[in-house]
Amino acid sequence: MSGHQCEKKLWFDIYKSKKSEVNNILLRAYLFENEVKKIYSKDQNVLDLPSKEEEWIKSKEKTEQAINSKDINVIFEGVFIFFDTYIRPDILIRKNKGWELLEIKSSGELKNYYITDLAIQSYILKKLGINLTNIKLIHVNNNFIFKTERDYRDLPLEIDVTNQVVEKEKEIPSLIKKLLPLTKESPCPNIKIGDHCNEPHECDYIDRCKPKSNIISYEMLPGRIKGTKIEKHCKANGIKKLEDVPADLLNENQKKIQKCHKENIILLDREILSYEFKDLSWPIYFMDFETVQQVVPKIKGTKPFTQLPFQWSVHKWSSLDEKIKINDANWFLEFLDQNIERKFAESLLNELGDKGTIFIHSPYEKTILKNLKKKDSCKDLENKINKLEPRILDSEKIVKKGFYNPIMKCKYKLKVINKVIPISDISYEKKDNIVSGNDAQLAWFICTDPKTDEKEIENQKKLLIDYCSKDTLAVYYLIRYLMEKTKNN
Ligand code: SF4
Repeated sequence: MSGHQCEKKLWFDIYKSKKSEVNNILLRAYLFENEVKKIYSKDQNVLDLPSKEEEWIKSKEKTEQAINSKDINVIFEGVFIFFDTYIRPDILIRKNKGWELLEIKSSGELKNYYITDLAIQSYILKKLGINLTNIKLIHVNNNFIFKTERDYRDLPLEIDVTNQVVEKEKEIPSLIKKLLPLTKESPCPNIKIGDHCNEPHECDYIDRCKPKSNIISYEMLPGRIKGTKIEKHCKANGIKKLEDVPADLLNENQKKIQKCHKENIILLDREILSYEFKDLSWPIYFMDFETVQQVVPKIKGTKPFTQLPFQWSVHKWSSLDEKIKINDANWFLEFLDQNIERKFAESLLNELGDKGTIFIHSPYEKTILKNLKKKDSCKDLENKINKLEPRILDSEKIVKKGFYNPIMKCKYKLKVINKVIPISDISYEKKDNIVSGNDAQLAWFICTDPKTDEKEIENQKKLLIDYCSKDTLAVYYLIRYLMEKTKNN
């Protein structure tokens, strides 16, 4: 499947593989697979093979025995090899005249590349003489609502994709023929970066393939550039540098960015910023949320893929002269409390009181609040949540209007802006730290895993509190800096 996306990607996987880190996407997939396997193994005689690749010879023998014996009727992760092509079907179920092949995908919909994945498996299985009665995809039921502890029977949904897979099988011999030589001491394919690098997944090797250049390309402009008049004009005229794009193709924000790069200047538009800050009311709050996207929901009333808020951090700033520090943050943090959404909303409302401007960075927190007030557990809080709305200001929008430093390279993420705010002492360094929303989600999964010990949970909690407080403090530094600069005008 890697080679199907890009031959060079497969070459890297074979010869210079990156150690894949555990991430929340892999964990979500693992949790979903686990639940599916529990459902499909109920009252069956199952062969469940270890996923460790080093045990594949033993696993292959066990698979052969299971296929030939009548004792086993469900095989998880069987090992099959033909044409030097190694496959591990997620589930095989014995039927009267053969086997049903099922692939588990922790996604809420059918994607085209799943068919290719299944076609490789069905092609190899058929070549080994295994009769496939049906081919199915098991994916996540988006409408599943978690009601009672440990009842996930309606979480997986099956779709019969036999016809599509059989059609796709015709392409598999040539795919295998094309990719096999890569496994035999071949040079790295000469493939340039392109649209395929993000389809169906963002490739792990983008850093290796990206041309090393200091050029600020028009492609780096914020927002969607693909398919726009900017891209069409630049491609037709061989333009790469942002500086060379005709200004009349750019919107106001893009024009500002281009000017800063062309003239190597920092933009700090005092007039615009003063206008943005004119209605601020004290105390000023800086607010940030962390959420988790579950596939196997664990909180009553929640569905797969909805964003479950589990942490907030708030810094309160009472006057211009006050200097606030990271430990001044107040926070909420829960993992599996069945009333987590209610407690999250109630404690937040309590923290924010009924007056003062609230800063966020990105519209995300507003979306979460909007979703929360629709929840049964929070419906009576709707009015109070609505009253927060007019108090909230988005610092990202303000920066886009009135501030830009060429070091930001067209990016407005808080961590990028933080680097160009001279008064900030915040560092988002990776080593053993939580440095992104994805890391925070991973921490939630670690803390809710029954195998995690108390010591590790305490460690993850500390890292989460530190991370979320850094974000709110970074917004404070940004706003304080811009206010000071504006005041000095
Ligand atoms: S970054 Fe793109 S070109 Fe490079 S290996 Fe990945 S998919 Fe292939």
